[in-house]
Amino acid sequence: MNSPIKKVVVLGGGTSGWISAALLKKILGSAIQLELVESDAIGTIGVGEATIPPIKHLNNVLGINEAEFLRETKATIKLGINFENWKSQGHSYLHSFGAAGKSLAFCHFHHLLKRANQLEDDSHLWQYDLNYLCAKAGKFAQIKSKDPIIELPYAYHFDAGLYAKFLRKFSEKIGVIRTEGLVEHVEQCPNSGHITSLKLKSGQTVTGDLFIDCSGFKGVLIQEKLRTGYEDWSHLLQCDRAIAVPSERLEKTLPYTRSIAHAAGWQWRIPLQHRNGNGLVYSSSHCSEQQAMDTIMGNLDSKAIADPKVIKFQTGRRYQQWNKNVIAIGLSSGFLEPLESTSIHLVQSAVVRLAHLFPHQGINSSLVDEFNKQSATEFEQIRDFLVLHYHATERTDSDFWQDMRHMKIPDSLAHKIEIFKQSGRLFREQNDLFTDSSWLQVMLGQGVVPQDYHPIANIMSDEKLAEMLRKVKEIKQAPIDKLPSHDEFLRIFCQQ
Ligand SMILES: Cc1cc2nc3c(=O)[nH]c(=O)nc-3n(C[C@H](O)[C@H](O)[C@H](O)COP(=O)(O)OP(=O)(O)OC[C@H]3O[C@@H](n4cnc5c(N)ncnc54)[C@H](O)[C@@H]3O)c2cc1C
Repeated sequence: MNSPIKKVVVLGGGTSGWISAALLKKILGSAIQLELVESDAIGTIGVGEATIPPIKHLNNVLGINEAEFLRETKATIKLGINFENWKSQGHSYLHSFGAAGKSLAFCHFHHLLKRANQLEDDSHLWQYDLNYLCAKAGKFAQIKSKDPIIELPYAYHFDAGLYAKFLRKFSEKIGVIRTEGLVEHVEQCPNSGHITSLKLKSGQTVTGDLFIDCSGFKGVLIQEKLRTGYEDWSHLLQCDRAIAVPSERLEKTLPYTRSIAHAAGWQWRIPLQHRNGNGLVYSSSHCSEQQAMDTIMGNLDSKAIADPKVIKFQTGRRYQQWNKNVIAIGLSSGFLEPLESTSIHLVQSAVVRLAHLFPHQGINSSLVDEFNKQSATEFEQIRDFLVLHYHATERTDSDFWQDMRHMKIPDSLAHKIEIFKQSGRLFREQNDLFTDSSWLQVMLGQGVVPQDYHPIANIMSDEKLAEMLRKVKEIKQAPIDKLPSHDEFLRIFCQQ
């Protein structure tokens, strides 16, 4: 037996640092000592407000009280993302976290609907989706139903800075040690190249067996020290800048994110309890900083409450997310733009992966290889899903959208689009974060229309099919009237 890893050091106290510290300590408990080093002088990136449903598992594993979490992080509910002007100007669709209708074995609901649409029915997919119906009605409550088609999956919008603070409090309570200080030197073992300690400006030395690099884009350990290298995907996802600016809260908080496409990128609008988050993600090859600034500042729906902040980024990932005894988590591991709010999720899933593959001293290379293989697949699957939004568009009104339409996309995505176009079939790769329902909504929403439907959709008579659709619609619509408004829900629930 190899000797155990005794001490884990997390470098960085942003969202990824505190999620990593809290979750690793919670899972591994007294098996490890955990010390987190962060520098107040450097600070955090200070953006990242929208999440996806698996964050609820993270909070559950940590044992976090949902009402306290909503209060402390000024969170609101997110039922999906409304994509506006993406397919064409004036068009919009919701990528909801729910699933529309009711499927048959081997035959998704949209095949039945396609057949019905070829008869006399002119309804659309989203009319059978409870998330969509609640989002548009501005309603929400946690629904517990025995009927599997009555589900209302949700995530949150929150203030990421407050979430990091919340997790810091939590982590310190369960034994994480926090050290404030700027890392100036990193010591390596001359033989193995493994990191042995961090030397702080104060003169303090922090030693460890395993290092989690959560130091942000620059990757103090994974890149500046270990020179791991970066796979650049900016030919596929060409946006490389963001301008973020908070504005006053609106009277009514929408239970979804708004993603509004512009001439050279897109804008987010995220409602929080105390303010609105806004930002423009754009391609600097297609738009100057001044044009971008004018676009975002001219498109706020309430008064700005801080100066806009410009953030540069390069889309891609580290060649190895785990190198020697360093695991990069968060921005240090790579970056996929926030179109589908996946970065915080990537942190969560990297920590869970590390917990599964947690090594002994000496570090078995097969664990490292497996970790890196799984991480690469996860990044690539999300990348493909993001590229779909840009590539499958009818927009021709700017050089940016022309370039998006004509760019060469990964074969994996081209195959998915082709099979959907020809047959309406969707195949979820193993462990793909995005479900069939997500792929379906974005394909249809972006204007990828299947030519055919599954033969199983023909097993019912026309009358039976119409009756089934009517019933499903009724079941999906039934809860809406009984639900409180989103704001009412927040007001009452947060008092608990
Ligand atoms: C424009 C934009 C929008 C985004 N929107 C979303 C979103 O909607 N949803 C989502 O899930 N994600 C989003 N993200 C991503 C999200 O912001 C990040 O995933 C998240 O904040 C994690 O950042 P981090 O902790 O890795 O890095 P940072 O926040 O940069 O933290 C780095 C930490 O390392 C420390 N540090 C660095 N160098 C040193 C040193 N030498 N010594 C000591 N300490 C050091 C710093 O003090 C800091 O504590 C967005 C990102 C961008 C750029």
